[in-house]
Parts: sequence; structure tokens; C-alpha cells
Amino acid sequence: MTSNAGKDARAASPETILTHSGRRTDEQFGFVNTPVYRGSTVLFGTLDDLEGSGAPYRYGRTGNPSTQAVETVITALEEAAGTVLAPSGLAAISTALLSVVSAGDDILLTDSVYEPTRLFCRETLGRMGVTTRFYDPRIGAGIADLVNEKTKLVFVESPGSLTFEVQDLPAISAVARPRGIAVMVDNSWATPLFHKPLTLGADIVVHAGTKMFIGHSDAMFGTASANAEWWPRLSRTHRLAGICASPDDAFLAARGLRTLAIRMKEQRERALELARWLEARPLVEQVLHPALESHPDHALFRRDFSGSGSLFSMVLKGKPRAAIAAMLDGLELFGMGYSWGGYESLCLPVHPERIRTATRWESDGCTFRIHVGLEGIDDLKADMAAALDRYAAA
Ligand SMILES: *Cc1c(COP(=O)(O)O)cnc(C)c1O
Repeated sequence: MTSNAGKDARAASPETILTHSGRRTDEQFGFVNTPVYRGSTVLFGTLDDLEGSGAPYRYGRTGNPSTQAVETVITALEEAAGTVLAPSGLAAISTALLSVVSAGDDILLTDSVYEPTRLFCRETLGRMGVTTRFYDPRIGAGIADLVNEKTKLVFVESPGSLTFEVQDLPAISAVARPRGIAVMVDNSWATPLFHKPLTLGADIVVHAGTKMFIGHSDAMFGTASANAEWWPRLSRTHRLAGICASPDDAFLAARGLRTLAIRMKEQRERALELARWLEARPLVEQVLHPALESHPDHALFRRDFSGSGSLFSMVLKGKPRAAIAAMLDGLELFGMGYSWGGYESLCLPVHPERIRTATRWESDGCTFRIHVGLEGIDDLKADMAAALDRYAAA
């Protein structure tokens, strides 16, 4: 775990942070990249070194140059006081939640939250005496009507998993902050390149690093970053829970981050072009992408985000299983699988109507979540056009 105190100075632009931050070539014999430091034991030369606080690393679990390289980049991008790493996005989320809640607390989660986050709160935190309630992702300042004297945390995920509602984070923070309620944001979709929750009033921001940071579908990873107020609690809880990311995965994350800006830009453009193209197809009932003018939260998106991610959903008319199977089974470029954020495109049927409890997801059609990778856009359109024809014909 690394706080930003005394570490690499903040570079001017996100692109420069991504390419230069966290690298110490002078300590790596001039090599550009920090290699994988695999290790548990760190040896000390003298008793003074062992007992002193000067050693930069003391034990494998608490970090090494490979992990620090990633922490430094995310801390700078999120404008945080510090960042901890985890072996998956969900582990970063559960650790961050454990750093906030105590028995008897009440927490509020958006009804559009990533489903495993919902289940961790309800089941695991529930066993520890924490009450979880869910709220309408479009509640905004109305969250004031739900908080009570036991409320300790509001969890925001914007845009929401599967359904892509944009949340009014400044309005929620304005209610939470004066009451001493922490605001935690899952920022996996936009990444800090396009959205900076800590600058909009959030206290803790979490990432499924598995997705855009790793960027190549070849590792699991997570991060949690906090402002100065919450950093001591987050870093202490992370340390005592024994959570640490493997140096190999940290290396892959550092490597992925170097090209994050260019991947985000390319994937944003392709996703938006495909979304617009899909929106004009007669079979498509709705495209759920906040950067489209037709999206109900588009104004909020324009206000708080500087760009859009590679992931969105569409609703197709009707939902005969044979049509869904014909469509998906014949896809050539779009793969069908969980996760997202890699260089390859994906298309997955999803069921938000089965998950929600505070709000209803009403649609007669079938919802598909689409991740757009780095293939040629015309090839992606052709694959999707053939898929829609199969859907219509079945
Ligand atoms: C995938 C995902 C997670 C969990 O990340 P893992 O690395 O799979 O544990 C959390 N939040 C969002 C929005 C995700 O898409």
C-alpha cells in the first residue's frame, strides 16, 4: 500500500501519468520497466535496519516495487491520498467495505450495483450485523429521505452494471458529507481518465482492475483508493486482512496501464459508433449508453464525465429463446463470456429484472451487454448485422 506522500510528483496530464508515473529506471539498471519482484522475505543488513523505519519494503505481503508501481499511478489518476491493491475487483470492494462498516451500521447500495457486491453486503456483512438497503440509482438528492442515524455508507456505481443509469454523485455527496456518511464509488466503467469520483465528493473509489487496467483478459486485479480522511482506515484494514495482489498480476496491471489512455479512446469511439448504429436498427428497442443523446441521464453524464467506456447494453424486441440462441451461437467476432475490458469484443444476455429489489426493471425484450474491443468497426457491425438477422429469422 502506498500513500502519495513523497512519491512521484503528479504529472500534468493523465497520459503522462500513465506513461511515466511509478517507474524508477535508476533503480532498475536503466531498464524502462519495473520487473516482477517475487518475494516474501526481505533481508535486513543490520539490527538498526531491522528495527528502524527506513527500509522501503519489509515483507512481501505489504508491497514491493512491482506493486508500488501500480499504486502510484492509480493514486495520481484518482487524486487520492493512497491506493491499495487486491487480487480481484471484488476483493478490493469487500476490503474497502470492511474498512468502513461496523456491527449495527446501515448501508445504502444503488439497485444497479454489480451483483456480487450486492450479495457480499447482504450475506456476508449481513451476518456481521450490518443492514443493507437498496436505492433507486436515479435518486440523487432524494437519498436524504433514506438516510438515518445508523447510515454509515452510500455505495454508488455510475453508470450502473447492466443498465447504465448515471448517478448524481455530487448531490449524493452533498447529503452524505455533512452527516459523516462515507460515499464509495465503483468507477470501473469510466476509469479515472473519464470520471474522478474523489473530486466530486466521494471518499473511496474502487476498480475492477481486471477490466480496463489489465486490458487483455489475462489476469484478475483490483484497486481501492481513498481521500485523506479515509486512507488510514482503508490502508490499515487492507493490511490486517492480509489482502495483497500478486507481483505478477501487478506487473500486468502496470503494463496495461501504460496504454490505457489510447485503448480507452479507441474503444470509446468504436462502442459509441456501434451503439448509434444499433439504435437505428428496427429490431433494437433501446440502447443503454449514457453518451447517446437518447439516454435519460445524458445531461448528467455530460456534466460529470469527460468520456465514455467500452461497455453498454441493448434491448431487443421480444425474447424467444430460440432467437437468442440463434443470434449468440452464430457470432464470429463477439465472444460470449463474463467480464469485459479486454481488447476483444463480447456480447452476453443479461437479466437485470431478476436482480433488483428497490426498483423494477421493466422490459418485454431481451437485454444484451456488449463490450467493444479493438477489432475493425466495420467487421463488428457485420457480425452484429448477421446476428440481428438470425434473431429476426428464428
Ligand atoms: C467485474 C466487475 C467487478 C468485479 O471485478 P472482479 O475483478 O471480476 O472481481 C466489480 N465491479 C464492476 C462494475 C465489474 O464490472
